[in-house]
Amino acid sequence: MRNKVWVVIVICILAVGGIIGISGLTSDAVSSKADDTSPDNEKVKNVIVLIGDGMGPSYTTAYRYMKDNPSTQQMEETVFDQYLTGMAKTYSNDKDENVTDSAAAATAMAAGIKTYNGAISVDKNEQPVETVLEAAKKNGKSTGLVSTSQITHATPGAFGAHNESRDNYDEIADDYYDEMIDGKHKIDVMLGGGVDNFDRDDRNLINEFKNDGYHYVTTAEDMNNNKNARLLGLFAQVGMKKAIDREPSTPSLAEMTNAALKQLNKNEDGFFLMVEGSQIDWGGHDNDAVSVMSEMDDFAKAFQAAIAYAKEHGDTQVIMTADHSTGGLSIGRDGDYNFDTEAIKAAKRTPEYMAEQIIDGASVEYILNKYVTFDLTDTELTDVKKAAATEDVDTLHQAISDVFNERAGIGFTTGGHTGVDVPVYAYGPHSERFSGLIENTDIANEVFTFVR
Ligand SMILES: [Zn+2]
Repeated sequence: MRNKVWVVIVICILAVGGIIGISGLTSDAVSSKADDTSPDNEKVKNVIVLIGDGMGPSYTTAYRYMKDNPSTQQMEETVFDQYLTGMAKTYSNDKDENVTDSAAAATAMAAGIKTYNGAISVDKNEQPVETVLEAAKKNGKSTGLVSTSQITHATPGAFGAHNESRDNYDEIADDYYDEMIDGKHKIDVMLGGGVDNFDRDDRNLINEFKNDGYHYVTTAEDMNNNKNARLLGLFAQVGMKKAIDREPSTPSLAEMTNAALKQLNKNEDGFFLMVEGSQIDWGGHDNDAVSVMSEMDDFAKAFQAAIAYAKEHGDTQVIMTADHSTGGLSIGRDGDYNFDTEAIKAAKRTPEYMAEQIIDGASVEYILNKYVTFDLTDTELTDVKKAAATEDVDTLHQAISDVFNERAGIGFTTGGHTGVDVPVYAYGPHSERFSGLIENTDIANEVFTFVR
């Protein structure tokens, strides 16, 4: 692969040299000609922003270990690696907390301002700030939000709503319906979880959207068959299940991304789409490496779907990053210099799923035999049984997670976020604008230049 790239570059240099030699262009003429075709003059019509929530650098590295082919000496690149352009600073503007949460980080990436933790596209004075999604809509583009959390959660919320608190999920759903731009609802495609925030005692936003021409779907099949440009798909009451726990009737993040692209692609003025791998972060909060890897895989496939679209549509700019890191995930723990990825791959369901089944009455042995490909040691089994005896699902979830984390050599230091820089990836005409060490606000500020 690398050899081929060098061959192409060498041929280009020879060709340019030949043209200059034959036509005898002056250097001024060469540079003005170059300006006409320079990347800065290439128009971006469509923008896809992908956010791996909580996906700090140790996550993308751990994912590379997971995907490594053990029969080769070299550790192969992941689907992300070749698109890496830089790193982003994530700190928020919060006097009490200088480690960001998802709301402040999403506001930075959606509206281009640093604000306080918990803010949904409002500034420090709780005043609404325009988002890239809104600017795109105002400019005649179509818009979409896709997530595996409630579609009203902090990250999608900051692109499509304004609220002083991320906890006001119902009000965020209200904004999606009520805040019109030029007499139209501002989000054309919404796919994710969160029925509870739409179908409520005080209001039924599902019916309101349907009455206004949205097609409403709740299964992967109906979503894939959708032909309506305006689409609302809600696949869970709250957050969707983790990818390895999902039924076939529930779509993957890649399927949702493709379903969104199929509709957004119809607008000849282009579109803005935000896709979030929401639950990478939730796995990090739970200190559950199995869930983290399940969700990263789901996200990686959605990223590939976005890249595939952009490769077919050259006027599409893809930007991918994280909002922060979560859990302090470390590759290596307890003084050991090894990450045994087989221990993570041995889980056929998440520890959370297994814990729920056991709390619902299934025996510890039955569940572990069914969903774990290795045999637990007596000590591990005793620890899990002790946790099961508490009848507390979170305690049991952690005990089962610990079996995988310890065997794999994956450590965690916190149940919260960490303030490290996050990797930034880009593909498309203006990827160079996302290179080097940038602020997370630079992402919004660059996207504004594409969508306005
Ligand atoms: Zn989080």
